[in-house]
Amino acid sequence: MSGTKDQLDDIFDTFLHRPKLFIDREVLRPDYVPDHLPHREEQIRQIAKILVPVLDKTRGSNIFIYGKTGTGKTAVVKYVLNRLIRRSHEIGALVEDCYVNCRIVGTAYRVLLRLGESIDVKIPFTGLATGEAFNRFEEALDHKGILLLVVLDEIDALVKIYGDNLIYELTRVNETLSRGKVSIICISNDLLFKDLLDPRVLSSLGEEEVVFIPYTAPELKDILLERAKISFHDGVLTDGALNLCSALAAAEHGDARRALDLLRVAGELTEREGQDKIKEEHVRQAQKKIEEDRVVLVLKTLPIHTKLVLCSIFLMSRSQVKNAITGDVYEVYSELCNQLGLETLTQRRISGLINELDITGILNARVVSLGRYGRTKKIRLAITNNIINDAFADDPWTNKVLDYSPKCLSKK
Ligand code: ADP
Ligand code: MG
Repeated sequence: MSGTKDQLDDIFDTFLHRPKLFIDREVLRPDYVPDHLPHREEQIRQIAKILVPVLDKTRGSNIFIYGKTGTGKTAVVKYVLNRLIRRSHEIGALVEDCYVNCRIVGTAYRVLLRLGESIDVKIPFTGLATGEAFNRFEEALDHKGILLLVVLDEIDALVKIYGDNLIYELTRVNETLSRGKVSIICISNDLLFKDLLDPRVLSSLGEEEVVFIPYTAPELKDILLERAKISFHDGVLTDGALNLCSALAAAEHGDARRALDLLRVAGELTEREGQDKIKEEHVRQAQKKIEEDRVVLVLKTLPIHTKLVLCSIFLMSRSQVKNAITGDVYEVYSELCNQLGLETLTQRRISGLINELDITGILNARVVSLGRYGRTKKIRLAITNNIINDAFADDPWTNKVLDYSPKCLSKK
């Protein structure tokens, strides 16, 4: 082989000589906070004006921020806080901030751990009752005389599971402490979230409200243009692709995250094809890929019996059974369970699971009358077989049955 180029050399050479599209792909990732946030000047000013008394060591009002995902809430709050904390430290004010994403952090106790960390007080990972942990935090805050700006991002995720106790305690800190102070900034994607809060908590949290409305297509275009300048080399992004990203994301409730995802994935697909310009077709492929990835993720997290129901319908469609009825699906499902040595669920339960899958749009179930034999459902997948394969091929149970030929099908 030596001296001659083989197919691997070709792959390596193509890679090394591919057109370079990206200057820096990291700036398209969702957690990157840009230095400039177009079309959020008003919200930035509002939040800064509410919080600015901290420069005078006085607590600003609590703020309640809401708006749909991708409207810039997290980016704006982080941006204002960074600048505010920097200025506080410059003038020697004892101000600190603590940013917590409640959905990621998970439990009320872990939120407390983060609060402790932000003012350098150790709270053990386990072993303390939440109330006791909170007292430690409170005492330290008072002792140090810190004014703490607490951001509780995606707070709806916490309150839906753990209730609003922790927030209630936090809102009361200012009444009980003499030196330490807390100012709370709550962010929620769920506009109906306020209904979950106790009126006392709501009145204290909602001292000020800031609303983030969805971006329009031209606004998204401005945002993308600024980001494209630092992520792609000149001339890589065509106007058509830029406009399409903005239009698709505007239709998707004005979501800047979706717009940036589309741009990043379109860039990656273009790069993989070895082309030097991102065009509309790449954006369309990106849209399809993002949507499919989202479905694959949902499928991977389903419980095993739900996965087996989907596998059954998948195997039936592969055997050209186009409109499966509930009873037949159950027959295939039972055979798969048998094959795997799992207990079957009852046909009623399976029928329930089919309804759930119908509601989430993973399959279509249509009720049909069988005359005097009652009613049943005609069921078919609403997603492609490829998606099923992607989602289930590395699951230790389902990978054993994806290639299985159900005996009950060959009898029919
Ligand atoms: P939310 O918290 O409302 O869901 P984010 O603040 O996380 O939305 O914004 C989603 C993505 O869009 C982030 O990557 C963010 O940097 C970007 N983004 C949002 N608004 C703007 C803006 N006005 N200018 C630049 N980038 C923005
Ligand atoms: Mg956010």
